[in-house]
Amino acid sequence: MPAKLSLGRAFLQKNCPLFTRLLRTRNAVKFLMSQKLSTEIKSLQLEELGEMARRFGEPVYRTRQIADWLYRKRAQSFDEMTDLPSEFRNQLAEQFDFGKIEMVRVLGSRDATRKFLFRLSDESLIETVLIPASPALYGSRSDRRTICISTQVGCAYGCKFCASGLEGFSRNLKPNEIVDQIIAVERESGEKIDNVVFMGMGEPLANFKNLIRAIRIINAPWGIGIGARHITVSTSGLAPQIRKLADEPLQIRLAISLHGATDEVRDRIMPINHRYNLETLLSACDYYVSRKKQRLTFEYILIDSVNDSDEQAGLIARHSKRLSAKVNLIPYNTVYGLPWSRPSWNRQEKFLSILRDRGIAATLRREKGHDIDAACGQLRLQNEARARNPNLVKPE
Ligand code: SF4
Repeated sequence: MPAKLSLGRAFLQKNCPLFTRLLRTRNAVKFLMSQKLSTEIKSLQLEELGEMARRFGEPVYRTRQIADWLYRKRAQSFDEMTDLPSEFRNQLAEQFDFGKIEMVRVLGSRDATRKFLFRLSDESLIETVLIPASPALYGSRSDRRTICISTQVGCAYGCKFCASGLEGFSRNLKPNEIVDQIIAVERESGEKIDNVVFMGMGEPLANFKNLIRAIRIINAPWGIGIGARHITVSTSGLAPQIRKLADEPLQIRLAISLHGATDEVRDRIMPINHRYNLETLLSACDYYVSRKKQRLTFEYILIDSVNDSDEQAGLIARHSKRLSAKVNLIPYNTVYGLPWSRPSWNRQEKFLSILRDRGIAATLRREKGHDIDAACGQLRLQNEARARNPNLVKPE
């Protein structure tokens, strides 16, 4: 029988290796599509990797091998996964990609805070900050390295003091683009990150699904392996999502970007307060604390003559007592083009002392990155402004 004919017959009888391979690939693709799963391999959970390997006809231990290559050996292509059969590697490469996170610039400050500007596969720019040990950061011990991660390109929430919202919102980051910020910063800096704060560009809770997916990978022993208590999500006050987060089993920390102790002050600087006013926000926090039995933190950027009065300090103390919250005071980092400034040193100390006198656990964050525009969004803005008109950019 001619070889061509026998191959055709085998194909029809479904015992041809090519047919089996096509069928398995089709099964795997159908699975990915039915679950609406991403084609970026680093967006998948372990069980999804396992199901996908099974549909490709591979044994279950391949799942761990893939996770090991991705998160322990930090492979950047399927070709590097040399203990996987080459045919399986080819199938993976046909269906998945690694995404792209390319370093554009890095700025290091005198206090060793470093700010990274990354370009993603669609040319979007995002920022990530590596912060040295600080007792004022969540979960930090003196030897901890903290990374401040972005969750969106730009931001739709338009807080008046923030550089990230200045050019509006472009898109949500995918789970792999969130996870990859840690991998890329560790690669570029040679530092091991052990504390993560979601306080970079974007409102994390507005990208809820991708955020939770990414946190699971960051937290998992098969993933990046950072403990939940060393992961802090910060929100400007999305009350419904705070309740949703409270119902998630993850034991991560929550920080509320309060920045004002009354509706009057929050309305002035944070448009989100028009949608969810202070009482709505604090009630959602009550619910979070009741579900998690965990202390939350109020972030409070001190802005001269806006929110730094004794009266505001007294009210913050009252809100903190209600929720047993800690307070983290942050002197404002000047944003080029915005009119706000930080209060005098004496005013900052006075604000802190009012809180402490009322028994509140409060810290005043010492300078981290003021000289490199560490407030979120500034480096990206600077880069885009430079591309448009080099004369408009403030000198570095
Ligand atoms: S402070 Fe946060 S929520 Fe407000 S505009 Fe900036 S990134 Fe968005």
